[in-house]
Amino acid sequence: MVKVNENYLKFPGSYLFSTIAKKVNAYMIENPDKKVIRLGIGDVTMPLSSAIVEALHGAVDEMGAAETFHGYAPDLGYGFLRETIAREDYSSRGCQIEADEIFVSDGAKSDCGNIQEIFDESSIIAVCDPVYPVYVDSNVMAGRTGTYDEVTGKWSKVVYMPCTAENGFVPELPTEAADLIYLCVPNNPTGTTLTRDQLKVWVDYANETGAVILYDAAYEAYIAEDNIPHSIYEIEGAKTCAIEFRSFSKNAGFTGVRLGFTVVPKELVRGGVALHALWARRHGTKFNGAPYIIQKAGEAVYSEAGKAQLKEQVAYYMRNAKVIYDGLKEIGCEVYGGVNAPYIWLKVPKGMTSWEFFDLLLEEASVVGTPGSGFGPSGEGYFRLTAFGTYENTKEAMERLKKMPSLRK
Ligand code: PLP
Repeated sequence: MVKVNENYLKFPGSYLFSTIAKKVNAYMIENPDKKVIRLGIGDVTMPLSSAIVEALHGAVDEMGAAETFHGYAPDLGYGFLRETIAREDYSSRGCQIEADEIFVSDGAKSDCGNIQEIFDESSIIAVCDPVYPVYVDSNVMAGRTGTYDEVTGKWSKVVYMPCTAENGFVPELPTEAADLIYLCVPNNPTGTTLTRDQLKVWVDYANETGAVILYDAAYEAYIAEDNIPHSIYEIEGAKTCAIEFRSFSKNAGFTGVRLGFTVVPKELVRGGVALHALWARRHGTKFNGAPYIIQKAGEAVYSEAGKAQLKEQVAYYMRNAKVIYDGLKEIGCEVYGGVNAPYIWLKVPKGMTSWEFFDLLLEEASVVGTPGSGFGPSGEGYFRLTAFGTYENTKEAMERLKKMPSLRK
């Protein structure tokens, strides 16, 4: 009789976003006259920009003619896109990343979930807490995380690096041994970042200890401040200790289009083995290339028109972020993020739990957010609002929050 992968059975009962959906559906059934505004989503809402739509149309036409038809794409990505990325995302920022160190994929989620496969089963993972749940969950599936404690909300073998208001959302170096260190900058859900100097501490640590940093820069396009690096390779020494993940989802609205890439520098060697060769092998065996049409759309992201249009999209969302940030401040909340990221992270007022605040917001304002505890134990007592809605809805949501009887000072 076949045996299932029992690691899957270790997950705690309910999944954050399905619990939210259930609560919102029940509320809408009970309150059919209320207009619910969703500020919980991490999905974009603006349509693709015209430069991208044109590139998609052009590529579809090519696929319809024998002379320009494309079959399987190269496993690791088309040269035209890898070279464009190397030039626009890296050379332009003074990082020496070669086109063949860039692996094009269908998005950052797959890559940050799959990367753990090239490391030994015994590797200890360290994660910022709270953070994007994929890092821990993919390691749960692989059997690296030990057992789950319902009371603490922690896995026994995971090293948690709390990021809270108390430490300015800057993780401290682990005191226990850690092999794989996941860093997400700007961070989902806190919207906070690390400066060049703060990141240098991690690069030096990884080079000294032989750890590998798995650096998720999916929200890089939202960085506004000069002292925040857009890539970990801006930091000296990063090429010998870090893998970087990027996405086209949030900078270009590709959440439904699907495109991303991972950078594995050739100099990154552990146990005498180049990780580049392992990831190339893994990618080549299990992934058959992102579609030509989509890679052409990705190339258009870097065209002059594409860059200008996407800068406007990011600015639109960041205007929402400011509306949320300022609105929350006005009602006396403790607020973080929202400056270099489309996420606003607030301290839940009046000692409520994250879920109590979720219920209150839904009940009194018909606004949906995301309870911080869903992103890790240190997220308890916090709440995430996102800037990915429309400006009108965002403004209306904040007006409603300002009127909430329970939030009045
Ligand atoms: N990384 C982080 C930190 C995210 O928040 C998300 C999506 O919300 C992703 C990766 C997924 O990116 P993609 O759409 O490219 O799979």
